[in-house]
Amino acid sequence: MAKKQFKAESKRLLDLMVNSIYTHKEIFLRELISNASDAVDKLAYKALTDDSVMVKRQDFAITLSADKAARTLTVSDNGIGMTREELENNLGTIAKSGSFQFKKDLEGEKAPKDVDIIGQFGVGFYSAFMVADKVTVTSRAFGSDEAWVWESTGADGYTVTPCEKAEAGTEIVLHIKENDEDESYDRYLDPHVIADLVKKYSDYIHTPVKMEMEHSRMKEKPADAPEDYKPEWETYTSLDTLNSMVPLWQRPKGKLKPEDYNSFYKEKFGDWEDPLAVIHTSAEGQVEYKALLYIPAKAPYDFYTREYQKGLQLYSSGVLIMDKCADLLPDHFRFVKGVVDSQDFSLNISREVLQHDRQLKIIAANLEKKIKAELLKLQKEEREKYESFWAAFGHQLKYGVVNDYGAHKEMLKDLLLFRSSAGEKLTTLAEYVERMKEDQPYLYYVSAESAERGAKLPQTERILDKGYEILYLTDEVDEFVVNALADWEGKAFKSVSDEDALPESEEEKQAAEKKAEENKDVLDFVKETLGDRVKEVRISKILKSGPVCLTADGPVTLEMEKYFAKMEQGGPMMRAERVLELNPDAGAFAALRAAVEEDKEKAAKYAQLLYAQALLLADLPLEDPAAYTELVCGLMN
Ligand code: ADP
Repeated sequence: MAKKQFKAESKRLLDLMVNSIYTHKEIFLRELISNASDAVDKLAYKALTDDSVMVKRQDFAITLSADKAARTLTVSDNGIGMTREELENNLGTIAKSGSFQFKKDLEGEKAPKDVDIIGQFGVGFYSAFMVADKVTVTSRAFGSDEAWVWESTGADGYTVTPCEKAEAGTEIVLHIKENDEDESYDRYLDPHVIADLVKKYSDYIHTPVKMEMEHSRMKEKPADAPEDYKPEWETYTSLDTLNSMVPLWQRPKGKLKPEDYNSFYKEKFGDWEDPLAVIHTSAEGQVEYKALLYIPAKAPYDFYTREYQKGLQLYSSGVLIMDKCADLLPDHFRFVKGVVDSQDFSLNISREVLQHDRQLKIIAANLEKKIKAELLKLQKEEREKYESFWAAFGHQLKYGVVNDYGAHKEMLKDLLLFRSSAGEKLTTLAEYVERMKEDQPYLYYVSAESAERGAKLPQTERILDKGYEILYLTDEVDEFVVNALADWEGKAFKSVSDEDALPESEEEKQAAEKKAEENKDVLDFVKETLGDRVKEVRISKILKSGPVCLTADGPVTLEMEKYFAKMEQGGPMMRAERVLELNPDAGAFAALRAAVEEDKEKAAKYAQLLYAQALLLADLPLEDPAAYTELVCGLMN
């Protein structure tokens, strides 16, 4: 019979597994048991609403058996099983979840060496080939009367043939490799080793994992035993349950070590890195639940895409009732992974009903507070960790502040970090306020590509000279965040580009008015030259030594304009009303004035030149770079 070939990616992965240099080969068992347990969960869930499922809850099991003579280890379950198509699709193709990342990494030079390939790519089933040179999977899908055998000796392909199987479920037979100099594969045929592995990796799996175990006991003393009777021993076998089945989150906190939490996380949520933080919490009273939540160290590759689905696993008395219950997590904390277990939900509650469930809302609100508290704790006690959290998920929190018309800003404002003129380190707003000078009227900010650029913008000079700190808004969404916040405990945020960013005395006001009056002819000339490109040309109140800058009147700032242009929802509506600001005390202005008086043609060129400088400073594109070059070169001649 012709062999079918694995999909290309799967083949490469299989090669890796077969020739594995991976040191923890023993984890294959964890992977197979966890698949079997998922399959059992699926059928158990079906049983809640479907009377044709004959297996009773207490009869669901994963059974292991080892045959030393035949060199086989068998893992079978009475779960949902697989159809022929599922066998081919699930076992002939690498798990879809990880394939994207996997492909990327393998195609680069940095093929994984000692990284946890298994966890990284979610290749569970394939790990069987680390210890077996042949794998036979017999499966019958629930509701089907056909059964199929999938068999493969590794990367050279696989076959699928029909067979008989009495019950729904899956049986996986591993033909264990012969020992070689590096590895004793015999151990995987030893029931005691197997039992230890189950304890080590799969103890909390809530389906019983059973195996025939041999025990010895003292024979009962016969009634007619002689005086000098010596106790005799006998061996017997029993079908033992190897795992304690108590889910991790049901165990007392004090009995759990960080490794327990971390390995549970990695296996359950397919991450290969330890989480940044763990929240193990429970409530009693109004609602009762236990929850085990994790904050991942990095954003999954699809986190900022539509594909990413938020949600927590919802269990009711140990039975999984929903894999990703979205209503348990607010959007701004959608990066959180975890499990909630509560007896308060009936097992066959529908999604629609659940959505409006009052209990669920209370739990979600509690968890939101817990997550915030945990993040604040990280921020205060482990700043570096918090900063790496921020690098991964800060963006999400900022969107959280802006979304829903700022409805969540109170929840999130303490969690925000910004760059500022106080130094290289990121600062919270509370820390900024702590450093504020007594007479400082506002919390200042400026938008710029980077903190370094922000520091050099001409409009920041007069604020910095006062000794006031400036927040550098370097992310597109930052300005929206500041707008949504509006103030911090009564003190308003203020752009350094606002005319009234610094309070003016009466004399200063009059002096400024006088200057504007005196230079009206120059301003009018520049406005006329630039036409519709600017709404106004004015004598600047925000420049100190810099000759020129661009600001915006009205609600749309230059940064917002850039943002909208990127989002492609721009159009004329979302343009900032540009204002060209000139510094009457700068040398350039004197030259401009002289030209306006003596040589109008030259003055027009100066006006365009100043406008171009202002665009460059504001990080906005020149309308016509070629014309600009001509202009500058023309002036040089
Ligand atoms: P993952 O478990 O990460 O999806 P695997 O390679 O371990 O990747 O498994 C691929 C798929 O094969 C599973 O998602 C599941 O649909 C199916 N599968 C594996 N083992 C079993 C089993 N014992 N019973 C039913 N389906 C299974």
